[in-house]
Amino acid sequence: MVATHSTRMLILGSGPAGLSAAIYGARAGLAPIVVQGIQPGGQLTTTTDVENYPGFKDVIQGPWLMEQMQAQAEHVGAQMMWDQIVEIDLSRRPFRLIGDGGTVYSGDVLVIATGAQARWLNLPSEEHLKGRGVSACATCDGFFYRGKKVAVIGGGNTAVEEALYLTNHSHDVTLIHRRDSLRAEKILQERLFKHPNIKVLWNREVSRFIAGGQPEGLTGIELRNTRTGELERLEVEGGFVAIGHSPATELFKGHLALDKDGYIQVETGTTRTSVPGVFACGDVMDKIYRQAVTAAGTGCMAALDSEKFLAEADFEASEAA
Ligand code: FAD
Ligand code: NAP
Repeated sequence: MVATHSTRMLILGSGPAGLSAAIYGARAGLAPIVVQGIQPGGQLTTTTDVENYPGFKDVIQGPWLMEQMQAQAEHVGAQMMWDQIVEIDLSRRPFRLIGDGGTVYSGDVLVIATGAQARWLNLPSEEHLKGRGVSACATCDGFFYRGKKVAVIGGGNTAVEEALYLTNHSHDVTLIHRRDSLRAEKILQERLFKHPNIKVLWNREVSRFIAGGQPEGLTGIELRNTRTGELERLEVEGGFVAIGHSPATELFKGHLALDKDGYIQVETGTTRTSVPGVFACGDVMDKIYRQAVTAAGTGCMAALDSEKFLAEADFEASEAA
């Protein structure tokens, strides 16, 4: 028999956006169910130091912050479900989501907080060496490259933080960037440039990850100079791709309005999507700010928008009765 879980407020995603929506929704008596997905706690569980989430004078750890958010949400009455949603039906209310084991979740409103996923370079050699030298998460895999030469590809906050983090394990870190300036925050750039164990290769693109050794793994990266076209080889055993994220919206194609980059479209100043009763918050609808605190802020908005929507729907139903 198929298990079904029904609630007033169904939340998809357990990063800062989903858990903040859960805290507000639970305190409003909506008994939210949070479907956590394969990354409970979201992106912040893949990082270490968090220095810009308000409320903490001292540096805190990303995974710890997310544990606290989940504990707070559960404490006020939200229910966590460890499942990955593979199918949705938004054609009528209550909305129905189906998990990968067939479990059905239904909600009078749906809050989508599925965030974003790491982007890859999409080279055949990258695919071939994923998990054998090529990674998209230094904090997860950096430990395996203790004492080895490593490189990070990208020029944003993530790339710079990953390069700095990798110096805990490696004395030889190279940052490879396709332009001649970084888009990372100035404070991070300063730390990067000052670090004696990090060098930066400007105007370089990865043309190929090079495999070798026994057992086979990454032995080097072939780079193309974007100005001269010249090819060169960098000897490294770890290559960390840190070129940003794509919104996790595959499930919603054809069901909700998405923008040209695939982010869920919301009405300006709200979390309302193109389907009444479906709200979106966090990185899945925000391609500009993409911060834990803004995700949490829009999560709060989604819960308040949900509450208002349900109150109006209840009022209309009672008038019609
Ligand atoms: P996410 O955190 O991406 O969470 C998405 C959730 O949706 C996950 O729980 C996932 O399991 C779930 N999900 C997705 N698809 C499904 C599905 N089909 N079914 C069920 N569940 C699903 N921001 C800062 O403010 N400060 C920092 O120091 C900082 N450091 C960062 C370091 C790194 C390495 C990275 C990658 C990001 C960092 N950020 C930082 C950005 C911050 O992590 C994000 O802005 C924030 O996590 C977005 O929250 P979110 O809730 O929108 O989505
Ligand atoms: P990002 O800011 O989008 O930066 C992506 C970087 O990768 C850019 O430098 C980009 O180059 C490069 N790039 C993109 N596609 C590429 C390709 N195909 N080949 C080579 N290089 C490519 O992504 P992010 O660094 O992951 O950050 C995402 C969000 O999370 C940001 O809003 C960021 O502020 C936030 N974040 C915050 C913190 C923090 O506050 N401490 C830490 C991490 C992340 P160009 O510059 O040439 O476009």
